[in-house]
Amino acid sequence: GIRKISEKYDKVFETGCREIDNNKPRANATLVILARNKEIDGVVQSMKSMERHFNRWYNYPYTFLNNEEFDDNFKNTVRNYTSANVEFGYVGPDMWGFPAWADPKVAKEGIAKQGDAAVMYGGLESYHSMCRFYSGFFFNHPLLLKYEWYWRVEPEITYFCDITYDPFLEMEKNGKTYGFTIAVKELRETVPNLFRYASAYMRTNNLTSKGLWEMFVEPKPKGEKKIWEPKFPQEAMNTEPGTLPDIDLEAMEGEKYNMCHFWSNFEIARLGWFRSKEYQDFFEMMDRSGGFWMERWGDAPIHSLAAGALLGVEDIHYFRDIGYRHTTIQHCPANAPQRQLPHIPFLEKTTLDSKKRIEEDEYRSRHDEPKTNGVGCRCR
Ligand code: GDP
Ligand code: MN
Repeated sequence: GIRKISEKYDKVFETGCREIDNNKPRANATLVILARNKEIDGVVQSMKSMERHFNRWYNYPYTFLNNEEFDDNFKNTVRNYTSANVEFGYVGPDMWGFPAWADPKVAKEGIAKQGDAAVMYGGLESYHSMCRFYSGFFFNHPLLLKYEWYWRVEPEITYFCDITYDPFLEMEKNGKTYGFTIAVKELRETVPNLFRYASAYMRTNNLTSKGLWEMFVEPKPKGEKKIWEPKFPQEAMNTEPGTLPDIDLEAMEGEKYNMCHFWSNFEIARLGWFRSKEYQDFFEMMDRSGGFWMERWGDAPIHSLAAGALLGVEDIHYFRDIGYRHTTIQHCPANAPQRQLPHIPFLEKTTLDSKKRIEEDEYRSRHDEPKTNGVGCRCR
């Protein structure tokens, strides 16, 4: 069943410790940390964990990015925590803040409204900018252009286990594009219209699922009336009306976002994918809708739905062996083999018929899934 399929498509890259050969070539890769000067303590915490469990052996360079110049304290401090190369990059207004085509007054009002409605981070203009940057720009930052792979690191993360193999090289070797360790549900009110645009992208480009899209779709119960009324204020955002394709929202009947996404604060991915015309087109269309400002679209659901639209199951790697924690959510491999291997969400969707899935549901409710472990998220 599932276990066999997961062995076929998505094997753990290494089991047990590998001897690290310092003469072996490294991947063309960097660890990316977007941060503010004031986050230096959280950055140090993350670097300590990263170095202790991985990078003291592999020495991948760090790329620090910030929409303001890093101060000397930040720069000198991080240099103390790694012997790898470090670079510091400034993110300019071409990649941060309102684009030229958006009306800042409209966007600011939209953001204020989300603040009033207590949408998480919805009232923070900087957070919107950050999400848009990680959705559509980071991979083209001048400091990242020389790299083909990246590993995203955030302030205040923890790795639990030693990573004694090179995940970049393993992904390369196995033809993977995108790696995750946690999948969770998005806060619904941050993305009211995200899915209809992503779905419209599929339709307007005549794309059909390669098996991953279904991971993000909650089928509507039979007989339910159409609920997808267009109410997105893209007209207000666009100074060039008509930029958006003429979307037939009614055609979306029958599909609904299940809110599942790869939690992108951990992400190991091929930068070439983000730079591809397909991804760029996807981002451009999502961006032009105004949703990064009028709603609080996160880069996690953007990356995830782009993957759903453009990639197949075999392009994704679930790093079930990487123990990871950020804020209140964690993935602990110790819990994983027995209970979570069968719950690899996209494999489930693509390999089980609906009767079987119901049995799986019952199995889960009997076995009391741990709440903190996002991988248990029932994504389909
Ligand atoms: P959360 O993990 O979603 O709660 O959000 P964070 O506050 O951790 O932000 C996500 C990432 O973006 C982290 O790496 C932050 O350091 C970074 N970030 C968020 N806002 C800003 C900002 O205004 N400027 C910079 N330079 N980085 C930011
Ligand atoms: Mn964070």
